[in-house]
This record gives sequence, structure tokens and C-alpha cells, in this order.
Amino acid sequence: MRTNFTPSQLTDPHLAEAERSLRTCVHCGICTATCPTYVLLGDERDGPRGRIVMIQHMLEENATPTAETVLHIDRCLSCLACRTACPSSVDYARLVDTARVHIQTRYRRPIGDRLLRWLIAKVMTRPGLVRIGLALAPLGRVLPGRLSAMARLGAKAKRRAAAAPPPMVGAAHRRIALMPGCVQAALAPGIDEAMARVLARRDIALVPLAGAGCCGSLVHHLGRGEEARAFARRAIRAFEASGCDGVLITATGCSAHLKDLAHLFVDEPAWAPRAASFAAKALDPLELVEARGTAPRRLRVAWQAPCSLQNALKLADKGRKLLAGCGYEVADIPEGHLCCGSAGSYSILQPEIADALRARKLGNIAGLAPDIVATANIGCLHHLSGPGAPPIVHWAELVDWADGGGAEPCRLR
Ligand code: SF4
Ligand code: SF4
Repeated sequence: MRTNFTPSQLTDPHLAEAERSLRTCVHCGICTATCPTYVLLGDERDGPRGRIVMIQHMLEENATPTAETVLHIDRCLSCLACRTACPSSVDYARLVDTARVHIQTRYRRPIGDRLLRWLIAKVMTRPGLVRIGLALAPLGRVLPGRLSAMARLGAKAKRRAAAAPPPMVGAAHRRIALMPGCVQAALAPGIDEAMARVLARRDIALVPLAGAGCCGSLVHHLGRGEEARAFARRAIRAFEASGCDGVLITATGCSAHLKDLAHLFVDEPAWAPRAASFAAKALDPLELVEARGTAPRRLRVAWQAPCSLQNALKLADKGRKLLAGCGYEVADIPEGHLCCGSAGSYSILQPEIADALRARKLGNIAGLAPDIVATANIGCLHHLSGPGAPPIVHWAELVDWADGGGAEPCRLR
């Protein structure tokens, strides 16, 4: 595709990255059928090809975006199914990320929208504030519109007590730092506890990364670039001081963000190499865990591979094989490439589309008649849980149980 950026625009490294992706697109439309919002809404402007055209015009003109452009880009889930489908290797992530920062800095949203986005950025990135929000969740019934959706998110939460402390690891083969994260630490601390036990049995010590906080993925997808970089710098400093061999987080949306951290700093020479070094040490836990050949657990498990696992980390098959290796009967969910609608804060900002995608995913799951659903991301787990859903757990909780520890997964949620 031809582009018309000026030489001066292309001195901005973020714009230069976006321009390279735009030039790669040949407008074939192969990506369109894989896009969840196009599948639901049937509008070219809600598919990747239409969005790419709008993003190009917006960035080239360097002008305030129109409300129409913002509407259709806001509806994008950043699931990256389009990137996986694209035969020309268009890096759609670079395009939509740059577009979101452009919108955040140039477009004045209605006051309610600005307030909601500010609340998401300030509350959901801090576990202490999330816990306060959970306590206020019953207010959800009296709050208007999308604030109600945010409160309902909290009302669904059921904090579980720890099943058992992680076993002590003696002379561990490896020491891996554990990012504390944000929402998951408040909603489901048992996931990190299960992961610590699973890794300890494999001679890997999971060490809490003191000084780090949220990975910053949530604000990154809101276009709040400086806040995302602040969270990233904090994590990088903490990891550099930790002396650990690697760093992980137990939600795949966050794992994918950590592995892609270098892109946040393409215009900051002082931080770019540090971010690249951090990203090179970032691991998804699926890269560390193998099945131990335990006895079959006689549970039929629907494997809900999050979009981040499929389209960014490319580890969806590893997760399915791990569960099968642990003795579970694993079933793949039809239309597995379609996002469940969680997508970070998307279920709060776009509740109608998110609810429609949830209903479609649960319908596909119901057809499998599973005992339980396994996933790898707190967002999907929490969004899919609730009315009409079977029990949903993180894969680490199933592996923990197969190893002989933890609580029986069907009783967890
Ligand atoms: S992003 Fe890829 S698949 Fe989609 S229209 Fe462009 S070249 Fe075709
Ligand atoms: S990231 Fe997902 S929702 Fe956005 S255009 Fe691509 S396929 Fe569609």
C-alpha cells in the first residue's frame, strides 16, 4: 500500500514503524473473516482492513481524528487474530498501538468516557484499589451505564483462600521473578500460589519481584503511553536488582506485553537496551512447565486459549498438550480464534460487543459438555465466569492438582 508520510513525520520512530506496516498491507482482506468485530457487526470499518485505512489517513494527516474513526478503532479488541491470518505479515499491533496514542493525545472524548478511562487506568492497575473496588461492587446496581459494568466486574469476584503454601525449594535449578501484576492479585491470588507449587516441583523457585507493580498492558491498550512506560521502567529496575534468571507473570495478556516491551522505548535510547534485555528474559510459564506423567484425572477440559496465547505468544498448542500430558481429556473449543470479549478493559468500555462475544464463546463451550474450562489469562477467566458458565480455572490450577497438590479444580470456582 502506498503511503504519504512526510520525511519529517518519519523521524518519529513510532510513526516509522507504523508506516512500514502500512506499506506491507496489500488490502487482500484475508484477515477480515477472522476479526471478531467484523464477524459480529458485518461492517468493513469494524474489520482490520477498514481500520488500517482509517489509521493511515489519521496518522498521515496528523490531525484530530473524527468521532467515526475513534468509534471503529475503539471497537478493536487488539486480539491480533488479523495478524495471525495475514499472509503479508502486516504487524497490526504497531498500527493500532500508534493509533491509540494518537487518539489519546489529540481527541477530546465526552466527559463520561474520559472519567471511565481515567478510573480504569488508576484503579485497575493497583491491587489495593481493586480490593476497595470489590468491596464497593454491590453499588453496581445503582451506577449508570458503563460504570455499572465496571462494578459488576467486581461483584463477580470471589476471592479464594490459599489452598496450600508453595513447597520450599532447596537449591533451585533456576530463580524466576514473579511480577505481582494488578487485577489478578486481588481477584484470584490462588493462581500465583498454584503456579509457585507447580514450578517448585520442577526445581524452579518463583521469587516475588519486589518493587514492581502492574506490567502496564492495561494502560498501554488505552493509548496512555507515558503511564505504560512508567510501569515498564519500574518493572525493569526491579528485575535488574533482583538477580533472577528470568521474569514471568501468570496472565498471558501481560506475558505478551512484557515480551514486547522494547517497542515502548524505540524513541528512548537510554531505556531501549534495558527494555530489550528485560524482554529477552521475560517468559510465559508455559515455556517452563512439562507434564510429569501423572495418573489420569478423568476430567473433560475445554481448552480456552486466550488470544494473547494464540496470536502473540504462539503457545496455545503447548497448553493443550500440557493438560493432555497431565491426564486430562482436552477438547478444543469451536471458533477458538474468536476472542471471548474480555480484552483488558474492553468488557467495561464496550459491554454490548463483549457480552455478545461471551455468549458466543459460552455457546461453543456448552456444545463440548466439559466438566471444566481451562484458560491462561485472568481477563478471560473472569469475563467468562458467572451465569451459564461451567467452572473456569487457570491451567496452573489443573496441573497443580494433577501433580497431587492444590484443591480439586471443580470446587475452585
Ligand atoms: S492486513 Fe494482511 S490480510 Fe489484512 S488486508 Fe492487509 S495484507 Fe491482507
Ligand atoms: S485486532 Fe482483533 S478486533 Fe482488532 S482488527 Fe484485528 S482481528 Fe479485528
